[in-house]
Amino acid sequence: MVAISLGEESGATRSTRVTRAIVTIERDADGFYRPASEEALIALVKKAHAEGKQLRVRGSAHSVAAAIYADPLVTGDGAIDPASAPASDAIHVLLNNYRGMRVVDAGQRLVEVEAGVNLGVDPEDPSGTSTQENSLLFNLWRLGWTLSDLGGITHQTVSGFFSTGSSGGSLSWSVYDDIQSLRMIDGRGEVYEVDRDRTPEDFQATVTSMGLLGIISKVVLRCVPTFNITGQEAITRVADASVDLFGEGSPERPSLARFLERTEYARLEWFPQRKGERLVVWQVQRIEPEPGFRPVRYQEFSGDPELSQVFVCLFFTLLGNLDDLRAARSKLEPIFEQVDEELIQRLACLGRVGQPLVEALTLASEGALDAAIEVLALAAPLLRKELPNLMGMALDTFLPLDSRKKGRDKGEPQCFRDWSWRGLPMDNQVIGSLMPTTFTELWIPLSYTQRAMKLLKDYFDEPASAREALRRTGTYAIELYGAPPNPAWMSMSYSDGKDVWRDGVLRIDFYWFQGNAGDPAEVFYPQFWKLFRDNGIPFRLHWGKGQPVGSQEELADWAAFFRGQYARWDDFLERRRKLDPNNIFLTRYWRQRFDLSHLPAPQPREDVGTPLIMIIRGCSPRAASNRCCASR
Ligand SMILES: Cc1cc2nc3c(=O)[nH]c(=O)nc-3n(C[C@H](O)[C@H](O)[C@H](O)COP(=O)(O)OP(=O)(O)OC[C@H]3O[C@@H](n4cnc5c(N)ncnc54)[C@H](O)[C@@H]3O)c2cc1C
Repeated sequence: MVAISLGEESGATRSTRVTRAIVTIERDADGFYRPASEEALIALVKKAHAEGKQLRVRGSAHSVAAAIYADPLVTGDGAIDPASAPASDAIHVLLNNYRGMRVVDAGQRLVEVEAGVNLGVDPEDPSGTSTQENSLLFNLWRLGWTLSDLGGITHQTVSGFFSTGSSGGSLSWSVYDDIQSLRMIDGRGEVYEVDRDRTPEDFQATVTSMGLLGIISKVVLRCVPTFNITGQEAITRVADASVDLFGEGSPERPSLARFLERTEYARLEWFPQRKGERLVVWQVQRIEPEPGFRPVRYQEFSGDPELSQVFVCLFFTLLGNLDDLRAARSKLEPIFEQVDEELIQRLACLGRVGQPLVEALTLASEGALDAAIEVLALAAPLLRKELPNLMGMALDTFLPLDSRKKGRDKGEPQCFRDWSWRGLPMDNQVIGSLMPTTFTELWIPLSYTQRAMKLLKDYFDEPASAREALRRTGTYAIELYGAPPNPAWMSMSYSDGKDVWRDGVLRIDFYWFQGNAGDPAEVFYPQFWKLFRDNGIPFRLHWGKGQPVGSQEELADWAAFFRGQYARWDDFLERRRKLDPNNIFLTRYWRQRFDLSHLPAPQPREDVGTPLIMIIRGCSPRAASNRCCASR
């Protein structure tokens, strides 16, 4: 077997030591266990099974927190710190020491990767050790290989990405076709393997299983030859777009479904806000790699990307907290620190409403934070009154229409070409700290596209009041993209090839700026879930994104609804029952998704034999210095 040559993993602390059958794993001060081998992973699972503890793996934490961590989810101060494990007795695993890759069969482009490998670089990796050199895609590229499709970002771990059924924007290509097999550790610490060809039923049950059928230890990928991409992005009014967003289309202007079908990779961002409405159409096709290829990189934000993002961050934070700007102080302070003269000048262009913003930012830049926030709080009624106009002005500033471009570029889309591993994830340039975004994403059968889009349009057009219209649309965008049908049981585009999902899906991804006041699962998403459900449009929700909250009764009702959307739901749960008999992977959140709240919590097991692994040290995250070692 050939080893993929990797650069040094500088800074990685190897806290796992393997000596024959003895493994010592210490819980790190941040609350995570960091196994560096499969033996160590097995040891942790056995410990959880024997002691009756929950165990969850954190990938790059791009899913909603509840989908990742064990109970209790909320830390003492009510906040979830993505850089540390929630304080609890549960076992939280971080796989930054488990990022090996090796070529299994060069002729077939088969590569085995350990579960902690990131697709690209995770800039927020708590260990600070995620680099281009130890990322999957960069290493594959050096071998002349890649994956068929990538999401909008590539910060995720391989195992976290597949676990939630994540996918890029393509109806033509699926990264799931590139997975050959998975090596899993079940809830008793037993290893099992599932292979696309040898055990197809087991494989399709397991590939997207949200950590409920066991821990993914290793993945074998059947890579594809590398390719480059060429594409363009147009920013227009909806009426001027090359896609007929709501209608049945024409030969010159395809319907949305047709456009997604015939474009290799596509992603649309629809800003439906009145006075600001616009459509951003990003589309790409594959091209052969050729010697001397010179990339022309896609630029997500025109002009100065960082400045634009500070602007958006400030703007969204203000608009999302107008009811109590004084309470938003902790959100505003870090933004103030990044404001510069150029931004103040941009705000000055907003006229009457820009005036208090300029005044506040000038005060903040002089260190008078209290005064700055007071100015903003006093301006809140004016900002609220002008909100619909403001949205238009803001969008014109950070997302100008192509028709507003100057000179030769006027009316022209942005054109770019790149290596696929760098160009397909078009959102990698977004700075997470400035544009913290969370979502709910509905996957609907492609044949329902026109109905769904018309329904949304009518819903947004309906209110007479501009304020109500903005409440419905929110201040952010709706992402529209596709995914092909997928035989994986719990994939959001699962299809048996004959059902209504057989042509693939349209994905409608409602963005929510995380600096807004309120929980979007309570104040924003439910309107869309209800709208689609009440109108008989089948949908499934992305497993890594926002899902319903509410009373046990309400959640049971949603579970029943989704059970009706997944033909293999019961089969999946039956498999879960067998593979995790002590329910160590089944957190409160996942119980709610599947209406399994009646199942017992993990119990200490007398019947479990001596584990292979002898010593596991677990230290309280709150008392790392007082070594409290539990050994078996
Ligand atoms: C900015 C942003 C952009 C995004 N873009 C896209 C996109 O383009 N397309 C898309 O489909 N989704 C997208 N997502 C969603 C994202 O891809 C998913 O949430 C994905 O699951 C995150 O992977 P992760 O490595 O962060 O895993 P985490 O979020 O940390 O974990 C995901 C789940 O997998 C489990 N898990 C992780 N590792 C293992 C393991 N080894 N064994 C068993 N279970 C495991 C976790 O416990 C959790 O349940 C985006 C999210 C964000 C925040």
